[in-house]
Amino acid sequence: MMEWSVPEEQRDSLSLLLEESALKGLKRKTRYPNYRFLGILCSYFPEELIMAFGLEPLRLLPDSAQRTPGELPPFSCSLARGILDMELQGRWEDLLGVGFVHTCDTMQCLSGIWEFAGQQNIVNMVPPVMLKAAGANQYYQEEVKRAWEQLQKLTGHEPTEESLREAIRLCRRIREKVNEVEELREKLPSPLTAALLRAGQLMPRAIYAEALDEVLPELYARAEESGSRARLMVSGAALENDQVYAMIEELEGRVVVDDTCTGYRHYSGPLMEESADPWYDLVKRYEDMPPCPCKNQSLNARLEYLGNLASRRQVEGAVLVIRKYCEPHAWDAVPLAETLQNRGIRTLVLELEGAEAGGQERTRLQAFLESILENRSSDSGGRAQA
Ligand code: SF4
Repeated sequence: MMEWSVPEEQRDSLSLLLEESALKGLKRKTRYPNYRFLGILCSYFPEELIMAFGLEPLRLLPDSAQRTPGELPPFSCSLARGILDMELQGRWEDLLGVGFVHTCDTMQCLSGIWEFAGQQNIVNMVPPVMLKAAGANQYYQEEVKRAWEQLQKLTGHEPTEESLREAIRLCRRIREKVNEVEELREKLPSPLTAALLRAGQLMPRAIYAEALDEVLPELYARAEESGSRARLMVSGAALENDQVYAMIEELEGRVVVDDTCTGYRHYSGPLMEESADPWYDLVKRYEDMPPCPCKNQSLNARLEYLGNLASRRQVEGAVLVIRKYCEPHAWDAVPLAETLQNRGIRTLVLELEGAEAGGQERTRLQAFLESILENRSSDSGGRAQA
């Protein structure tokens, strides 16, 4: 993992973003004493909603994959175990609350356990699983408005619709900037891009937007062709550090497609034009965002999106990262690997306890990358190494 520590007086925007990414929001009280954060655990909780209340969304990430609080069975993912354990230690005590979205069974159970075992208030939202089903938009809007009411109770004030529009505009501006970084992805070191995108979920959004503005010229200047590096896709849930990306880079690979909750999937999707109805705009954006394995737009929407993106970016190999006990990503890995292999893309399934990759993973990644590099000219069919 990249660890960054730059004295405040020498801190430029790039250092700031890399520090925030490595700190995972843990120093928010000293770094941003005038801001109030609300925790989120999923990209389907609209950040705009939180920001309209003058709050900052903070993606909760565990500081260790080894924690197992008594309230959760050991066969839950380390994300849920680690975050709940930190709550029980009072590490999220300064948050105004935590926003839960019913995505996987683990998150659904965690919100119920949190309500009784945790100290923080929770805001619950149940978005539709079938995002394009008849009535889904209207239903999602009702859920968003229900969350709005819960936030009103927590904060004791009701923002105007204009505050919501402003938050929508700021998020749109951030997504535009992230799209620029994304265009440069294949020309930048993979752990750098991963860190820059993760930072955007861990710090006040207006500061992030400004820092990205300042960093972009430097990124354009640093960008250089990736040469003979193997072109990879990384797909998975949240990754709380850059180890997998750094390992890929060390082994002569380059992540040219990122489909993770802490990476590009969080920002991806069409940039909506503003309409007369901000609630519709808000929900439409989350409906149209390329889906994660817990959501559905149509039977094959996710597979087609990732398959087409992989072909467009000339991906040679896909690393499907599965957090131990994460069922949605484990189920998804089977059809995703098949889809990619049918397009001649090799796949490697990496099961990790958290986001830490060790010696065993290094050996597997090394063999995978070597096989891609060695067989470039002759390899025309995909081959799974799961
Ligand atoms: S989707 Fe997977 S990693 Fe994410 S919370 Fe659910 S079980 Fe954990």
